[in-house]
Amino acid sequence: MKAHDGMYIGGAWRPAAGRDRIEVVNPADETVIAAVPAGTAEDVDAAVRAARAAFPGWAATAPAERAALIGALRDALAARKGEIAETITAELGSPLGFSEMVHVGAPLAVASSYAELGASYSFEERLGNSTVLLEPVGVVGAITPWNYPLHQVVAKVAPALAAGCTLVLKPAEDTPLTAQLFAEAVHEAGIPAGVFNLVTGTGPVAGQALAAHEGVDLVSFTGSTAVGRQIGATAGAAIKRVALELGGKSANVILPGADLAKAVATGVGHVMNNTGQSCNALTRMLVHRDQYEEAVSLAAAAVANYPAGDPTDPATRLGPVINAKQHERVRGFIAKGIEEGARLVAGGPDAPSERGYFVAPTVFADVTPDMTIAQEEIFGPVLSILAYEDEEDALRIANGTVYGLGGAVWAADEETAVAFARRMDTGQVDINGGRFNVLAPFGGYKQSGVGRELGPHGLTEYLQTKSLQF
Ligand code: NAD
Repeated sequence: MKAHDGMYIGGAWRPAAGRDRIEVVNPADETVIAAVPAGTAEDVDAAVRAARAAFPGWAATAPAERAALIGALRDALAARKGEIAETITAELGSPLGFSEMVHVGAPLAVASSYAELGASYSFEERLGNSTVLLEPVGVVGAITPWNYPLHQVVAKVAPALAAGCTLVLKPAEDTPLTAQLFAEAVHEAGIPAGVFNLVTGTGPVAGQALAAHEGVDLVSFTGSTAVGRQIGATAGAAIKRVALELGGKSANVILPGADLAKAVATGVGHVMNNTGQSCNALTRMLVHRDQYEEAVSLAAAAVANYPAGDPTDPATRLGPVINAKQHERVRGFIAKGIEEGARLVAGGPDAPSERGYFVAPTVFADVTPDMTIAQEEIFGPVLSILAYEDEEDALRIANGTVYGLGGAVWAADEETAVAFARRMDTGQVDINGGRFNVLAPFGGYKQSGVGRELGPHGLTEYLQTKSLQF
């Protein structure tokens, strides 16, 4: 596939400082499809300098003008929708239809929302005898994961641009081609040189150099809790702002009286979509003891709706996991579930094909809250179904992990579901199948992170306040 052998810095593609390259592998057939430069501290430094140089001009640009350029960026991405979806399918392995609808569709909606919000947002407020100015934080170091290669980038870049910040992006090593297409769209949109810069590379080298760079005012990271902890510590030592979007182990609570068939089918879909590689995936289904066996049968049957295979084949609903390491890791969790006594009702640890990082869609019953598969983020197509005795028990189980990112409650009526949701220690709850909303704040309680993305709350992350007293 087409790839730039350079970094997008200061409005142009420039040769990388070092000779190392990262190979990009198609996870569906394990072929090498491209190579991109592995950035060094030198590349990161050049990119941060470019972002610093561009900052005063961009911060002084009228919000409406910045917002219009975000709109132009959205249009540039939309014009290349097909190419971006094919690239995501090639480097992530997600079924092409899902790439088009979700991987490209969602970030287009996010970009549109910031084209509107950026123009209407009030960057000044009056409080008593003070005027509070909401000013951009400065240069942002954005570090993104591979699971939503475009969405994770747009969810940071669009609000940062709307706020008046400039950025350096270090995308995940598994999905750099989508990030390069994004940089091309930034260029085509006419966003001024240096406002957005791209350095591809590994986490420990380029990512670490970006997080530690003294010219970066805010680090916005999405990925594993382990790396988030390190980045938080680095940022804390330098007293710089940090936003962390980390893992999850979200509960899907089905209360008595809910539409069980709909709740189970939707819940299974939520885990199988993107091959379980969503930080807010509803990986723990909580069902009342009286309806438990019925729910288990429904879930085991629903898995048949997710045939795995070639992601470019329209019949495929389940792609591979991202890479060899995750392939081992996810199947290791499945083996652990069996070992710890959970009842396997669909799927299993064996690789279903010789080539490609495929994992069979897997459902476990008789999962207890203390099991590894009920506590750790698996990031694969694996659902755990847990039984509860009463609402208090359900709440204890739902809140009983270190995470708190997503969640869902199904009940006979909204009032009952909302009452339960209020008691959940989590950043988002879908009520009776509520849909994703690009304006709603997205982020975690507890170890799922610090800060929020999307909508006006996401924009606030990139602002700092200055108050003037009169
Ligand atoms: P990761 O945290 O290692 O990678 C995320 C990003 O951080 C990548 O761009 C990576 O290059 C960078 N990075 C890695 N080490 C770094 C360091 N020391 N300093 C700065 N940047 C660094 O995630 P992963 O290895 O790709 O996935 C492992 C697990 O993380 C998954 O199994 C899953 O549980 C979790 N994960 C969560 C999300 C999410 O959206 N919350 C996304 C991807 C992965």
